[in-house]
Amino acid sequence: MAGYDFDYFVIGAGSGGVRSARIAAQHGARVGIAEERFLGGTCVNVGCVPKKLLVYAAHFRHDFAEAEGFGWSPIQSQHDWPRLIANKDAEITRLNGIYRRLLEGAGCTLFEARAVLLDANTLEVGGRRITAERILVATGGRPTIPDEPGAQALGITSEEAFYLPRFPERVIIAGGGYIAIEFAGIFNGLGAQTTQLYRGPLFLRGFDTDIRETLAEEVRKTGIDLRMRTRIERLERTGGGIAAHLTDDTVMEVDAVMYATGRRPNTAGLGLEAAGVAVDGQGAIRVDDQYATSVPNIYAVGDVTNRVNLTPVAIAEGHALADTLFGNRPRQISYNNIPTAVFSIPPVATVGMTEDEARGQGREIAVYRSAFRPLKHTLSGSGEQTMLKMIVDRRTDRVLGCHMVGADGPEIIQGLAIALNCGATKAQFDQTIGLHPSTAEEFVTLRTPLPDPDTVQEAAA
Ligand code: NDP
Repeated sequence: MAGYDFDYFVIGAGSGGVRSARIAAQHGARVGIAEERFLGGTCVNVGCVPKKLLVYAAHFRHDFAEAEGFGWSPIQSQHDWPRLIANKDAEITRLNGIYRRLLEGAGCTLFEARAVLLDANTLEVGGRRITAERILVATGGRPTIPDEPGAQALGITSEEAFYLPRFPERVIIAGGGYIAIEFAGIFNGLGAQTTQLYRGPLFLRGFDTDIRETLAEEVRKTGIDLRMRTRIERLERTGGGIAAHLTDDTVMEVDAVMYATGRRPNTAGLGLEAAGVAVDGQGAIRVDDQYATSVPNIYAVGDVTNRVNLTPVAIAEGHALADTLFGNRPRQISYNNIPTAVFSIPPVATVGMTEDEARGQGREIAVYRSAFRPLKHTLSGSGEQTMLKMIVDRRTDRVLGCHMVGADGPEIIQGLAIALNCGATKAQFDQTIGLHPSTAEEFVTLRTPLPDPDTVQEAAA
């Protein structure tokens, strides 16, 4: 072991890499870590953190409009995009510093350079050859732009959107996943004329159907021109901006076209072939249940493995791996009941199975649903509705899934994820006294399941 420069070398100082490096160093390993772009990776720099700051900014427009119902005089305010971006950048610089101190404080050696694998134990890092007994690849992912004419030249992704020098007054967002939906809410809230295009019949594929339908209604109420079954055919530069030719036979002139059509693992040019690390057709590193790649001393965690592409999952994987390799504490993380949220306006939050998943597994289920106007909106004049839904296994009474569209959903669902992980039953939810008045209490006051669709069909026949 002493023959190597490091016991553990981590490529990529994002969520998974930083956690793994830091914990390994705390267990006594000699750790090196390389980062070619920015400390903290996607989440801190061009992902979760700046996104949520922009969502807060966008929300003020709705809050200002709703304040009058509570007795405030009308609020006239202009938004200053460059100031928002500058303030956001200052906060990110502060976070970059925290990440640096975390690594250095733990005793890791930080290389601010690109690292490339030369073989299973050797890397080139900023022109230096470095050897390591074990190597972790935690290089995350990158957004992609499809091949339609003009898209590569004129389209942007979320990465550029965070740094636009001028606010686009008219914007098209292509895609119907997390990023597209979140950015549509941001641009719309900040005052842009916003069109969102989704190629399929209903966006947010993979989420509960009721949630997807409710969210579509709610975001349309906020003014987003949401078009399903619509794609961009081509983009052209015009005198006044960009002309987007759409498959619904319309042509729109806009100031920006943002593609949020998915992300790819960041594996190109890493030297994976030289080291013998196998990847799948998408370029994702294949790992076993211990995060080992096809080369036993090389590991991978987080988005580069393209499994559950969420920051907290990458962090948990990196931590578990460091404990396993250097802490004499072999362990794996649980992928059950991972809560997730889309920070749209209003937000979506979910944990556990959707109704379709539960039925697809052949389970006999009871479905509870509640849709209502939240107390705040009785005076605000907003037409915003909250919808929540619970899926229960009739045989065991266990709660299989909780889903919600509405304010504070992410804060509520995080708590419910603990209950689901403890195997909570519907009876236990029912025994719990509600916290009044709140939206969260609806989850413990659901009493009447929806009629079973099979029974309804039989009755109708
Ligand atoms: P997603 O994979 O979630 O969504 C991509 C969207 O683009 C889908 O609606 C997809 O449609 C559509 N699409 C794909 N290719 C094309 C194409 N060629 N033309 C038109 N539409 C296309 O990717 P995102 O980029 O939104 O996010 C990536 C991942 O990052 C997420 O899956 C999530 O794991 C993570 N993330 C998490 C966040 C959070 O926790 N809040 C926030 C942001 C990202 P279809 O459904 O038909 O395939």
